[in-house]
Amino acid sequence: MSTNINEALRWAREYLSHFDVPEPYIEGEYLLTHVLGCQRKDLLIHPERVLTSGEMKRFSEVIERRGRREPSQYILGEVEFRGLLFKVNREVLIPRPETELLVEEVVNRVCSGDTILNLQEIKYGVPGIKDVTVLDLCTGSGCIAICIAMEIKSPHPPLSKGGMGERGGLRVYAVDISGGAIAIARKNAERHRVEEKITFLVGDLFNAIEPLGLEGKIDLIVSNPPYVSKEAMERLQPEIKGYEPVLALYGGEDGLDFYRRIIREAPRYLKQQGGLILEIGFNQARHVRNLFEKEKVFSGIEVKRDLAGIERVIKASYLS
Ligand code: GLN
Repeated sequence: MSTNINEALRWAREYLSHFDVPEPYIEGEYLLTHVLGCQRKDLLIHPERVLTSGEMKRFSEVIERRGRREPSQYILGEVEFRGLLFKVNREVLIPRPETELLVEEVVNRVCSGDTILNLQEIKYGVPGIKDVTVLDLCTGSGCIAICIAMEIKSPHPPLSKGGMGERGGLRVYAVDISGGAIAIARKNAERHRVEEKITFLVGDLFNAIEPLGLEGKIDLIVSNPPYVSKEAMERLQPEIKGYEPVLALYGGEDGLDFYRRIIREAPRYLKQQGGLILEIGFNQARHVRNLFEKEKVFSGIEVKRDLAGIERVIKASYLS
């Protein structure tokens, strides 16, 4: 029996509704465009187009997985973040749109020259600039480190692996405790041709860079660490709870464990006037601000809201 696009979409909607998948019709359309390698408008223009048995088989497999509440990003194996495609699997958290704000803050800070002097040249590719060193902790899919490497233009060709070139440039260190995550991050960096600018390291936060002698040498530390509290873990939607890595989500009893460690240890590695920029979860701004204030070495503590109006990013400068 042959099935056309219209019928396949109707079936998908009913199937997904049955499993309480939010927006079942849109999900069905989205997944069908991927199976057919077409755009949404093509589905609307050719509703009578009959699916081959191979296409129908692939579409039903994909819809059944979505019915089990697997996130579509894992089913398709990729996700868009700041206009770039990133490979994802269950080893890594799916990049969220609100994390784009974190990248924005880093790029703006480096390119504005606000607190890091004389760095405007980096963006515009003027020679004779200083080095910029960025550390991304809990890199996961690598989306933050890779966007930074793509968006902050270095005036010089890629530097030698692992170190700074003599003439300056950008070096990003990307750390994750999961070897599986680092493998994906590395593939993503290769896909976007920035692997020469990024040093990937497996390890537990700052322990990973301990042997590199970077004390007092980092311009910016950025992180979207695990920040979900014990209680909030219970309430996560099925897609997150059933499929995304607990390692990338769980931030300890109150969700703040990683902020405590990062904020305490960051001053040792930051240059004077260097910045620490962190993503935070719902209602965490006040607590994380307190952690910054307690150290007494940070100034200009500032919180930014995301497009939904939620306090999402906190940043501060280091004064020694
Ligand atoms: N933003 C994720 C969520 O909504 C959490 C990510 C994290 O812990 N860093 O669940």
